[in-house]
Amino acid sequence: MAEHKSPERQEELCTVKACGKAAERSISTDAASEAGLDIMEGARRAHLCKDHYKEYKKRSKKDRKLDSLGH
Ligand SMILES: [Zn+2]
Repeated sequence: MAEHKSPERQEELCTVKACGKAAERSISTDAASEAGLDIMEGARRAHLCKDHYKEYKKRSKKDRKLDSLGH
């Protein structure tokens, strides 16, 4: 996979199923699935478009809040 190292930043697409927009951020797939995002199977990193990154942040924040409320 690392055979082609182009100096230009290759545009990654959002790894969320049925999205396909240009990705802006990448996070670990674990973090993404914890946030409830439907990541394509076999992906090593979860690349998120602007919208899904926002959703990820929102959800992970909410989870934390719910978690602390639950205890
Ligand atoms: Zn997306």
